[in-house]
Amino acid sequence: MTDILPSILPSFVLDGWWTPSDEDGATVVRDSSTGEPVTRVSTRGLDLAAVLDHARTVGQASLGELTFHQRAVLLKQFATVLNERKEELYALSERAGATRRDSLSDVDGGIGVLFTYSSKGRRELPNARVYLDGPAEPLAKDGSFLGRHIYTRLPGVAMQINAFNFPMWGALEKFAPAFLAGVPSVVKPATPSAFVAEAWVRILVESNLLPAGSLQLISGSVPGLFDHLGLGDLVGFTGSASTAERLRAQAADGVRFTSETDSINASILGPDATVGTPEFDAYVKQLLVELTTKAGQKCTAIRRAIVPQGLTASVVDALRAKIDERVVIGDPRAEGVTMGPLVSVEQRDEVLRQVDALLGAGGELLYGSTDAPAVTRADGTVGPAPDGAFVAPLVIGFGDVDSPAVHEIEAFGPVASVLEYADAAQAAELVARGGGSLVTSVATHDAAFAATVMSGIAAFNGRVLLLDRDDARTSTGHGSPVPHLVHGGPGRAGGGEELGGIRAVLHHMQRTAVQGSPEMLTALTGVWHPGAGTRSDRHPFRKSLAELRIGDQFASGEREVTLDDIETFAAFTGDTFYAHTDEEAAAANPFFPGRVAHGYLLVSWAAGLFVDPDPGPVLANYGLENLRFITPVSPGDSIRVTLTAKQITPRETDEYGEVRWDAVILNQRDETVATYDVLTLVAKQP
Ligand code: NDP
Repeated sequence: MTDILPSILPSFVLDGWWTPSDEDGATVVRDSSTGEPVTRVSTRGLDLAAVLDHARTVGQASLGELTFHQRAVLLKQFATVLNERKEELYALSERAGATRRDSLSDVDGGIGVLFTYSSKGRRELPNARVYLDGPAEPLAKDGSFLGRHIYTRLPGVAMQINAFNFPMWGALEKFAPAFLAGVPSVVKPATPSAFVAEAWVRILVESNLLPAGSLQLISGSVPGLFDHLGLGDLVGFTGSASTAERLRAQAADGVRFTSETDSINASILGPDATVGTPEFDAYVKQLLVELTTKAGQKCTAIRRAIVPQGLTASVVDALRAKIDERVVIGDPRAEGVTMGPLVSVEQRDEVLRQVDALLGAGGELLYGSTDAPAVTRADGTVGPAPDGAFVAPLVIGFGDVDSPAVHEIEAFGPVASVLEYADAAQAAELVARGGGSLVTSVATHDAAFAATVMSGIAAFNGRVLLLDRDDARTSTGHGSPVPHLVHGGPGRAGGGEELGGIRAVLHHMQRTAVQGSPEMLTALTGVWHPGAGTRSDRHPFRKSLAELRIGDQFASGEREVTLDDIETFAAFTGDTFYAHTDEEAAAANPFFPGRVAHGYLLVSWAAGLFVDPDPGPVLANYGLENLRFITPVSPGDSIRVTLTAKQITPRETDEYGEVRWDAVILNQRDETVATYDVLTLVAKQP
């Protein structure tokens, strides 16, 4: 990749690069700091229907050949190739106004999302194509009829419309879960930073790792998009609430439309967090980060600082000191610059318009100036940059906290308002006035205050960060969504869940309740259900993954439990709980007929009953899950165990896989004593 961008930015469609033959009317994209043209975008003549069709046919077919784990392994490979070429992406991002620190969120953040989804996909999803939701539901007394919820991928295309502020992270946070689910993506970046999106897509294309049709990129607008979308397709939109509303109205029935739109996020300073406390310092530091990172162009940035009565001046003074000490505004290519411009002069003008609206609605400028700031230029000189999109940090005070403007107007730049509250209830109420936010943070070391506020704000937020002295150093921060947790928010924030671990993957899949016999459900899900066929030809511990099949079973002989065994186990382990050692006390307990065997004794014995001791393909037992003791075992009772291969998960990158065994301990009356899953690692080959 060279530093010179093509005069018109190509799209990657139908597994090839495409540029319009007619460049008339192409939109010019400009450098955020200097206003110089960088490239142009246009989709004039692009056959959008063919692009979507390619995703639904070729993309669906190639992704459908892969299991969750195979897709997850590819995500890691994508992350690795992008990681190796980060410098190119940083350099390009500078042209869209991003400093090196901003690129940590966008470039490294995007790569991080791929790594996280790769690892979560392999740990939390089966190495299969169907995902099971919850346990089987018995629907007939004799076990011959069951119900189960399964997730299968949507058959269409994931159309991802992204915002200008995170051309890489914002796209990859949608692409990663869609890819893992097996749904092909069409990425439509926002025009002002489309050249950064083109760069990461180009790197992936050059890696030759992308399954055919799994990723397409449209550099430019998508007129008529909604005419081509229907049931089984998804739209994930990030941008302004007004565009989201307009597009949502155009989406046909059955199109899964979610949006992540501008939100008036809040940050509460607790009453205990007075000047000099670690919470006060963490609060001010966080405010600085949120004002200046990406020049405040973050969907999660703090727009409303909600502080105890009388504390506005202290917060603003502390913030001023930090800004004076640390913030150098300028061209991200210049040495020492810590805060870049907004993405475009259009955005700058829009932000200044919103600031005017806030001031006109009763706001008072407590810090900063709306005049064009003197900035550090690329050559190191300092002065005005009229063609750059620079805005200095601005803090606005609102004496009237009920002014609707402060809760409704988003100035999408380095702008925050300060409001004072009287008590926890009012602080929570002010947060809720935002009409649904992506995130609120609460800086307090007082758990009772946090709990009261939380009960008032949880329903209005996608995420809440509790900041105090114990986590301030390690906290990922107010404005940094993490792939493990939900990123999205209710109401005005759009209702989407772009991130949130496997939840975001399932968003690309359909949940269906399937009813049938154990045999049918076993065949359909690849997981053995009690009542389905079994095979007991030889001990399953002697079989490698190449030979083992679900339903392979071992049924042990019986072993009698004596009082002596129980006493020995109690003395040996130190577990002398009265139910095992004191006949009278045990009999007085409503659950026991008298002294009973320890559950752990039975589970240990069960292992002794089912194990095949010789060296073989079973490599390790790595745990038990879902252990339940159901019927107590008294001295004189006998137990036996059946062990059935329930689920086999070969690991893509290792010479072994996981086998989940269904274990059932029964007594001499065939009553179920205990049930659990035994988890083992088994070699792929003998
Ligand atoms: P827009 O809502 O105008 O654009 C967002 C995305 O939607 C862009 O990719 C844009 O493409 C696309 N788009 C616009 N119209 C259509 C359409 N008819 N069909 C399909 N796609 C369309 O937001 P902006 O980027 O202009 O930002 C404006 C405001 O949005 C900001 O000031 C801020 O308030 C908010 N915002 C919120 C963000 C968040 O993360 N929640 C992020 C960024 C902005 P194109 O660029 O080609 O027009």
